[in-house]
Amino acid sequence: MLTSGTTSVSRRLLGRLRDVMAGAGTAQERLDKVVTLIAADMVAEVCSCYVMRAGEVLELFSTEGLKSESVHQTRLRVAEGLVGDIAAHARPLALADAQAHPRFAYRPETGEEIFHSLMGVPIIRGSRVLGVLVVQNRTMRHYTEEEVETLETVAMVLAELVASGDLVNRSELVPVDGNAVLPLRLEGVRLNAGVGLGVAVLHRPRITVRRLVAEDPDIEIDRLNRALAAIKTELEELFSRPEMRDGEHRDVLETYRMFTEDKGWLNRISEAVRTGLTAEAAVQKVHDDTRARMALITDNYLRERLHDFEDLANRLLQHLSGDDEDGPRGELPEVAILVARNIGPMELFDYDPKRLRGLVLEEGSTTSHVAIVARALDIPVVGRVKDVLDMIEPLDPVICDGDNGQVFIRPPEDIRETFIEAMSERQQRRAIYAKLRDLPAETRDGISIGILMNAGLLLDLQHLHESGADGIGLYRTELPFMARSALPNVDAQTMLYRKILDQAEGKPVVFRTLDVGGDKVLPYWNPSDEDNPALGWRSIRITLDRPAVMRQQLRALLRAAAGRELSVMFPMIAEVAELVHAREILDIEIAREKQLGGVPPTRIRVGTMLEVPALAFQLDALLPLVDFVSIGSNDLTQFLFAVDRGNPRIAERYDPLSPSMICFMRHVADKCREYGVHLSVCGEMAGRPLDAMTLIAIGIRSLSVAAPAIGPVKTMVRSLDVGVLVPYLHSLLDARDHSLRPKLRSFAIDHGVRL
Ligand code: PEP
Ligand code: MG
Repeated sequence: MLTSGTTSVSRRLLGRLRDVMAGAGTAQERLDKVVTLIAADMVAEVCSCYVMRAGEVLELFSTEGLKSESVHQTRLRVAEGLVGDIAAHARPLALADAQAHPRFAYRPETGEEIFHSLMGVPIIRGSRVLGVLVVQNRTMRHYTEEEVETLETVAMVLAELVASGDLVNRSELVPVDGNAVLPLRLEGVRLNAGVGLGVAVLHRPRITVRRLVAEDPDIEIDRLNRALAAIKTELEELFSRPEMRDGEHRDVLETYRMFTEDKGWLNRISEAVRTGLTAEAAVQKVHDDTRARMALITDNYLRERLHDFEDLANRLLQHLSGDDEDGPRGELPEVAILVARNIGPMELFDYDPKRLRGLVLEEGSTTSHVAIVARALDIPVVGRVKDVLDMIEPLDPVICDGDNGQVFIRPPEDIRETFIEAMSERQQRRAIYAKLRDLPAETRDGISIGILMNAGLLLDLQHLHESGADGIGLYRTELPFMARSALPNVDAQTMLYRKILDQAEGKPVVFRTLDVGGDKVLPYWNPSDEDNPALGWRSIRITLDRPAVMRQQLRALLRAAAGRELSVMFPMIAEVAELVHAREILDIEIAREKQLGGVPPTRIRVGTMLEVPALAFQLDALLPLVDFVSIGSNDLTQFLFAVDRGNPRIAERYDPLSPSMICFMRHVADKCREYGVHLSVCGEMAGRPLDAMTLIAIGIRSLSVAAPAIGPVKTMVRSLDVGVLVPYLHSLLDARDHSLRPKLRSFAIDHGVRL
């Protein structure tokens, strides 16, 4: 529950600002009055307002205290000087001795050399910095945190004046190529393949907070409490829906509910109300602070958490401004492309998947939940499309080209037609894949290939039977853990794993034990502060160090598989000793369950992922201990080439179809054959037909791929003559090429292999 406190000094200032802003005069005149007012109220000799102009230049627009001839003359680039630094990092600065700061840039025309202290805050609206507001004093004044807060609140009010388009032309407030009427092609990253055409629906359209200054904080606190209560009721209503009875979406919702109770966050909002803001302005302020902080945070765990608060702030704003009809639950157009900065997997379920033709995100990564859920729903996704929300208007026509990681906004007719043709071809291909469902995955020269599916959500199970996959070659058990607000207990896990096995209807399922850390974050575990999380405390390293978690998971798996076969796979094993240790834990659990009189699985198969190159040099010691090995090509590529898989600048720099990677995997395949150990590949590479063709040529006979890749991979398999490819591939392995992809593609084309 929020409570209102005492009246603060800034309320008086805000009240005056409101009168000036609503009063007579041009925007410039009003701004001049505003800076005078702030200087007086904050007992500063200088108050200046810099406004961002086209080309990322900050222009001095108004000042009280600096030389008047510098107005509209003094300009600083973003990141230049202290003002530029505030804009670049979207964060406040308060310096008693500003001139001693290494970033201080002296501008003689301003006459500012006599002012020693400086406090500045960014003027932010949405996620964009529109300018900088600065106060300066002659003495070495130590500005307090409260004074910084006050200036931030004032900057927020000023943001409305800057964004109004009366000070600078509104066209300068959007990026240079963001002209709303021109067609645009924007580059992003493929998060899910496929192409969709539709009209833009902006996820949580930006709500413009119109009423900023409040009369009575008690009324505002009351409004906030009512909005919070409404969200909680909404959550209860969602919980009661039949489709929410179980599954990962329920877990996500539980986590969400936890955030509505977060005291720190609620306190920050009520503090902001106490400074004189309306409830919505207070939420907006905390929300803007969060966003500005998010831009600076590289820690995945913190980013995820801040993102959840951001979602909540948006819902609150919708309630407070009374236009929740435009919100997530609003009616979608017939064909919609959803555009968002980021979106949680739960929120995606707010939209009718039948009408959703694509998803475009400013953020996101292939392993983010939403990408995984979108994959399960077969919705094309393009992520990391910079500033797309600033360049698009609701109902703009959009093409979401997940295949090539690009987005067309307001595309010209010829581009639209090309895509429509490509889509109809894709439809035809799908119909062909559907016919393939019950045909064997056998090459032209009679080699049988196992094609299995990767899964991580109960939702994925429906594709198992539709696609004709032979089973689930990789079940990523971490997703249900990531969706919850607390570690699921043994019973909850048992129920989930039992459901998965039930729904698999006897097809094999390989359960991979918890593989968190790196880019997969559990909301309830404190992150470790690591410089290289991908090389850090993650996956099996965590579960071996926290054996209780591993034991509980194994116990749940044993119970769920009572009377049927169980396959358990350990991730990120780097040395045989780790596998031995993990097996010991499993053996203890098997013995314990036996003692308790539980029905054991009919058979237990134990396997390891091969993702860390070191393990490949211990295969003689490893292979006698396991029933199967699965190569995780995503992490293997990352570790073999020392290339961060999550960094778009270099993620694609090395090709898995390089001589080194192929030779490496061939060595593993040869050894597994020698020891009679089943080998599969379950990374993304296995789902790309050309890559899969190469894997088959080095002796791999089992591939586990995302559901939409099953048809294309099977088509390739059925058109391939392995006997012809093998000698050709061998002839290439000593090549000096960066990638063998072009040559292998030519081979496929020449030999009628269907890619
Ligand atoms: C891999 O690394 O290839 C893999 C399948 O595991 P994940 O993508 O879940 O890390
Ligand atoms: Mg991996």
